[in-house]
Order: sequence, then C-alpha cells, then structure tokens
Amino acid sequence: MAIRIYNTLTRDKTFFEPINPGEVSMYHCGPTVYDYAHIGNMRAYVFADILRRTFAWNGFKVKQIINITDVGHPSSDEDDGEDKIETASTREHKTAEEVAKFYTDVFFGDLKKLNIITENTIFPRASEHIPEQIELVRILEEKGFAYKTSKGMYFDTAKFPNYGKLALLDIKNLREGARVEINPEKRNPTDFSLWKLSPVPGVRQQEWESPWGIGFPGWHIECSAMSMKYLGNHFDIHTGGVDHISVHHTNEIAQSEAATGEPLANYWVHSAFLTVDGQKMAKSLGNFTTVSDIENSEISPLAFRYFLLGASYRMPLNFTWSALSGSEKTLQGIYREASLLKEGGVADEEYRSKFRDVINNDFNTPQALALVFDLLRSPLSSETKLATLFDFDKVLGIDIEKGRSAFMAKDAKEEDIPIPVKNLVDEREIARTKQDFERADLIRAEIAKMGYLVDDSPEGPKVTKR
Ligand code: AMP
Ligand code: ZN
Repeated sequence: MAIRIYNTLTRDKTFFEPINPGEVSMYHCGPTVYDYAHIGNMRAYVFADILRRTFAWNGFKVKQIINITDVGHPSSDEDDGEDKIETASTREHKTAEEVAKFYTDVFFGDLKKLNIITENTIFPRASEHIPEQIELVRILEEKGFAYKTSKGMYFDTAKFPNYGKLALLDIKNLREGARVEINPEKRNPTDFSLWKLSPVPGVRQQEWESPWGIGFPGWHIECSAMSMKYLGNHFDIHTGGVDHISVHHTNEIAQSEAATGEPLANYWVHSAFLTVDGQKMAKSLGNFTTVSDIENSEISPLAFRYFLLGASYRMPLNFTWSALSGSEKTLQGIYREASLLKEGGVADEEYRSKFRDVINNDFNTPQALALVFDLLRSPLSSETKLATLFDFDKVLGIDIEKGRSAFMAKDAKEEDIPIPVKNLVDEREIARTKQDFERADLIRAEIAKMGYLVDDSPEGPKVTKR
C-alpha cells in the first residue's frame, strides 16, 4: 500500500519505499530518564505509535526501537553542562541507576496509559551499550573523523562533507561565527564530543574504561551505536521532535555515515512541539504537565491522545485544560455512540478506502477522526458501523472497544434499577420539562428514600444506588 510521508531530509512528501519489501524499520529517539516525561515528550511517542499502527494496518511487518537515554545527556545542546542523570541523582539522593530505573518505569506506564503498543518494540538502554559506543568511536578515530582533546574525543565535522544537510545549516556562517567556545581545543564550532573524559575519575557514578581514558559517551553516539546494532547500518525511518533536527540528528547522521559509508535512514520524520501559551512545553520553563496530572484531574489519558490526533503531527499544538476537557467529552461521545451499535458486522470497504486515503497521506489523523463522525452519521447498518469503527481504531488507538464496554456496563447497571424508581425518574423529568422544580425536588426526595440518587447530566438523568 502506498504511504506518503514528509521527509525532513528532502523537505518533500514522497511515497514510502521500504528497503525490504513489506517491512519497515524505525528508530525513535527516546526519553532521557532523569525526571518525569511531560506530555510534550509524549507527543513524540504517540506519533511513533501512529506510524507503527499505520504501517501495520497497511500490512507491513514493523521493527521498532525506542532508546532509553540513561547516561551522557548534557543539560544543553552545546555539548556541555551537567549530566542530567547525575544531577537528578544528587537532587533525589538516589544512585544514577535508581533514578534511571524509576523514571524508565514511569515512562513505560505512560506509554501504556496512552495505549501505545510496545509489543516487540526494543527499548535499548545507553548504559548497557557502552562497548558498542566505544567501538564506534574507535572506528571513527581509525577513519580519521575523530580527534583527541584534553576533554575527550571529538568528531571533526569539517571532515564530513555533507555535515548539516538535514538541518540545512549554514555551516560557513556557523564556522565563522564568534561563538564563545567551551573547549578551545575544538577544531570547528560544530564539532561535538564522542567520548568525554571524567574530569576526576571516581567522582561520577557512571564512567567506564576506554582506549582514551576513563569517561562516558557523548550524547549522540548512543543512538548511532544502538540503531546500528538493532536495525543495521541503513534503515527506513528515524523520528524525533523538531528540536532534534539541528544538533542531535545532524550529529547522528555525521557519525553513522562517516563510520559506515552508508546513509543512516531514508526518511527523517519530525513531530512538532506541544506548546503552552505558544511556548514549547519544557521542564526548564516550568510549564509542563504530565500524564499523571491528567489522571489526577479525572481526565482519561486517552482524551489526551485524542487531543493530539486532532492536529497534524507537523503543526505545533497548543495545550489547554479546556481543550483537553473538550476532547474528553467528544471521546466519551464516541464511546457512547459505539455502545449503541451491534457486533457481528464486517468493516465497510468504501470507508476503509477513505480512511486509507487520509491516514496514508502523511498520517492525517484530524481527517481520520472526521471520518469517524462521518461514519457514525452514515446510513450503514449498526453492525457494519461498529466493525468499521473497530477497524479505524487499529490505527487511532483510542480504545473504542474498552470505552464502549464501559458504557454498556453502565447501561446494564441502569437496567438493575427497580421499575418504581424508573417511573419516578420519568415523572421527575416531566415535572422538570414543565419547569415545576418544586415537584421535581419532591420526587427526587422520594427516589432518595427508595435508596437511589438522581443527577442531571447533559445526556439526561443519571441514577445511581446510594
Ligand atoms: P528528551 O527526553 O528531552 O530527549 O525528549 C524526548 C522527546 O520529546 C524528543 O523527541 C523531543 O524532541 C520531544 N519533545 C521535547 N519537548 C517537546 C514538546 N514540547 N513538544 C513535543 N515534543 C517534545
Ligand atoms: Zn537519538
């Protein structure tokens, strides 16, 4: 099936051509596990999940890697600053390993809550791939792309002819620019570290022996080493947030391609930011929300997934709580409608084909959601509608099956309500329509005496046992 995909490398939307027919291999830059991931980070993984589900829905065999950065991520893209994990370890009075384990587990929990499929996905940890990273740096040194400084090994970007191609970087200007250099021994301002030497061995928790001395890997090398290990030198798709284009992905391409002489990935796909008041959601700005915050507000994490799907992954999306509650209401509306539909049908081919057209067009989820409502309003039979809805949900992942069951369970409970109570509820509704609120209140008290509570909701009265 033909899937069109926007490639940052070519700034163009083209038909996806797999390296191996019927297969797709993807590497997604994963979280740095030094703190809770915020819902901006989660946008990148919901998008990775949409990619996976779309390819699977189209019959592709999917290979997926999401790395866990548990060492070496400096606090700034400038290749310097505190190591995020070590800083968190001091802050939380835990070992670096404990910090990483704790936030990795929370991250896995968040993936689950957002209905992100993790079956067969490999989550390699940077700290468990130190020999592979050292080996890659060694190859780069052997091939003349790496040089040693007193701070460690650096990649010489001037030796890599296409450096900055992905980001369309203006290298000439960058090289001539008067940036204050962190390491005066660097040959070019764009050079970046491959292996950092521990300033004083024995102080850091995470450090290893290497041919260049005791130290730890630079941030970018882990993705090159681990993608190579699990997907080979050359794979189909590499993703991340747009903030990775100019430094992290640019450097991954340089290292990997310099070492192997092959292109790293054919498609570079980037998701846009989740913003707050137009600003990037970021830990450093203190404007972030987590999946747990959403749950604590009694909103389902799937409502957040639904909210994300309402915008193209390439467009910045502004997060507000009121928009999220709106998504929750709409999602519950879909579940309710699904609860009224019957099982036993077969998905409608015409609607499947419409769905294919939109989702295979660069993963157009807003149009895919529009098609859900179009389907619900269509004259198709109840059974066909439900089967088609379930089919769409294989890609959307808003868990219509579970939401529908929850509604059906609620309805079933309503059936347990005794007839005299039901009659009183109906009588009360009539009183309310006549605006006879005094009588309505009397009936409510009567119902209460019989052991039931009645609440008014936009969908009508809701009766529960006291
Ligand atoms: P990090 O844990 O900082 O390495 O980021 C994990 C992923 O989240 C990366 O793909 C980032 O590009 C992405 N990301 C970070 N902040 C945001 C944001 N506000 N909106 C969308 N994606 C983000
Ligand atoms: Zn990466």
